[in-house]
Amino acid sequence: MKVEPLAVEHELVERVLRIKQTLRGFVVDETPVCATTDPEAWHPEHPSGLSTPPYKAEKQAMALCQDCPLIDFCLIQELREVTAVEHVHGVRGGVRQAERQALYLTVVKEGLL
Ligand code: SF4
Repeated sequence: MKVEPLAVEHELVERVLRIKQTLRGFVVDETPVCATTDPEAWHPEHPSGLSTPPYKAEKQAMALCQDCPLIDFCLIQELREVTAVEHVHGVRGGVRQAERQALYLTVVKEGLL
C-alpha cells in the first residue's frame, strides 16, 4: 500500500511540531504503559489503512497510550530514529501505524524534525 505524506497543516504534524518545541531531553524516570502489559497489543497483526477507521485492536492500544506519561516523547522519538517508512510499525504515541507512516513522510520530506 502506497503511503502519502500529510498536509503540513494536519493536526498530527502540528502536534509533532508542538512537542518538538516543548520536549526536554530523554525521560528516564517514567514507566511506559506498554511495558506493564502485553507488548503485542501495540502491534496489531492487521493494521488499518489511512483511508479506513482504526481497527478495534488499534483503538484499544491508542486508548492505553493516552494514559502513558511518555506519549509525546514516544511519538517524536520514533520519528527521529526510524530510517525508512516501512520501519514504522504498530501503535506508538497514541497514533496508529498508517497515520505515523504518513506523518513520517511529511516531517522527513519537509525537514521539520
Ligand atoms: S505512548 Fe509509547 S511508550 Fe507509551 S504506551 Fe504508547 S507506545 Fe508505549
